[in-house]
Amino acid sequence: MNPPIPTLEQALQSAIDRLAPFTDTPRLDAEVLLCHSLGRDRAYLRAWPEREPTPGQAGRFWDWIEQRAAGMPIAYLIGEREFWLRDFIVRPGVLIPRPETELLVELALARISIQESAAILDLGTGSGIIAVTLAAERPRASVTAIDLSPEALAVARENAVRHGVAHIRLLQGAWFGPLATDERFDLVASNPPYIAERDPHLAQGDLRFEPALALASGPTGLDALTTIAAGARHHLKPGGHLLLEHGYDQAAALADLLAAHGYADIAHHHDLQGHPRTTTALWPGLAPSA
Ligand code: GLN
Repeated sequence: MNPPIPTLEQALQSAIDRLAPFTDTPRLDAEVLLCHSLGRDRAYLRAWPEREPTPGQAGRFWDWIEQRAAGMPIAYLIGEREFWLRDFIVRPGVLIPRPETELLVELALARISIQESAAILDLGTGSGIIAVTLAAERPRASVTAIDLSPEALAVARENAVRHGVAHIRLLQGAWFGPLATDERFDLVASNPPYIAERDPHLAQGDLRFEPALALASGPTGLDALTTIAAGARHHLKPGGHLLLEHGYDQAAALADLLAAHGYADIAHHHDLQGHPRTTTALWPGLAPSA
């Protein structure tokens, strides 16, 4: 006799048991993966626990559960992650959007009014969450996004199309490299790599599966932030804003760098865990030469 085909409820329970040793959130992970393999929401699981998945649905579900048990991030399995109430396409070539980065977006939106046709630059755009969200929320702005990785730019392009802001200018290169030397912006934002190269966190959790290029930046993690702080003053209009996400322990070092380069109004902003996570500054413009 063939074994009985498990119902959704039974499949879910087996998956929770399978994942429990490997994740802190086995039920949530299993439910999200089951919903995505069925193409249904969680209310469907609650309403129809006795239904049976098709062999195709069950096959995909168990394939994902095994990958999840091996540590693969949920966002890469289902191919998306929500950010600022929009679903963004993500693949292993880009950083998975983090809720902390919504703080940077909130600070950017507070600096650019809805009527303004501001010029905005997002450095290291990755999946494009910052550039696409700002372009969608500030439709009159002209948004430029730069990334070193062609793979990341392809994802950012798909996200721009998905969210109706295909006019974003996407450029490939290192930091300010692809820009004309005299091109200036009202606002420059970046969530650059800021983890120290040998930080043990890089070998843990989701970070093991994310691109090193998006995460690590030199022995102290400050290389990219240093490059951006030095370069942004050549690409900000007088009175233009610089917004940088950084590690919880990098605020003081970044503030020193920004002050040394002549930025004004340097302020730290805290994430939901209470860590200083984003630093903002203003470029006052060139001092009259003596
Ligand atoms: N800007 C993207 C994000 O905030 C990518 C950042 C990165 O790859 N370091 O998720």
